[in-house]
Amino acid sequence: MFQIAIDGPSGAGKSTVAKALAARLGIVYVDTGALYRTIGYYVRSRGVSPSDARGVEALLGQIHIRVAFEEGSQHVYLNGTDLGNRIREPEISMYASTVSAIPAVRTFLLETQRQIARENSVIMDGRDIGTVILPKADLKVFLTASREARAKRRVLELAQKGIETTYAQVLEDMEKRDEQDRTRAVAPAVAAPDAVVVDNSELTFEETLQTILKLAKERIAELGD
Ligand code: C5P
Repeated sequence: MFQIAIDGPSGAGKSTVAKALAARLGIVYVDTGALYRTIGYYVRSRGVSPSDARGVEALLGQIHIRVAFEEGSQHVYLNGTDLGNRIREPEISMYASTVSAIPAVRTFLLETQRQIARENSVIMDGRDIGTVILPKADLKVFLTASREARAKRRVLELAQKGIETTYAQVLEDMEKRDEQDRTRAVAPAVAAPDAVVVDNSELTFEETLQTILKLAKERIAELGD
């Protein structure tokens, strides 16, 4: 089993690059943000405030999450239903970030993530993969970029999903969410001490991909020695 952890703030391009790397390396890509988004979605659907820790905790017993990999892509089932792009709405991003600061939510999702990594070689993207979920990952990358570069990419990504928004709105939401993720008490979104920090503000997608692919290949060769 081989494990690659990719952490970093939103809009750094983690998911796009991780998906491409998974295809190149023949391993499974796991998007852990989708799990927090699914909980955020459920909390909103029940009319509970995401910052009401007790209220959110009380809902966890009603949530069953199953992750399946169908034809190379990840599907998250919430009580038997695949929510698809409904979890990608900007409002759900904020719900996900706020509920993800609640320790019981993180504990609830911990085993699901570790189990996937026990059963498959993975490239897992998130915020605490290298620090908490897979502390012994074979390669840890912290992918980051300037806030302007990240906001621009996020606008494009949302447009591709049919979600209309503006650069100013995206920048504001992104900063608020990243600040919340970075400063929370449990599993803050920071680089693990042994992570390689890659800043791709000035790199194209292909250059970012090649940089991480090189790191992965070096690591695989080392493990083979
Ligand atoms: O990666 P994505 O933007 O989909 O994540 C949504 C939110 O879920 C993040 O803003 C973060 O608060 C939370 N998250 C987390 N830990 C992870 C992945 C995501 O706290 N491993």
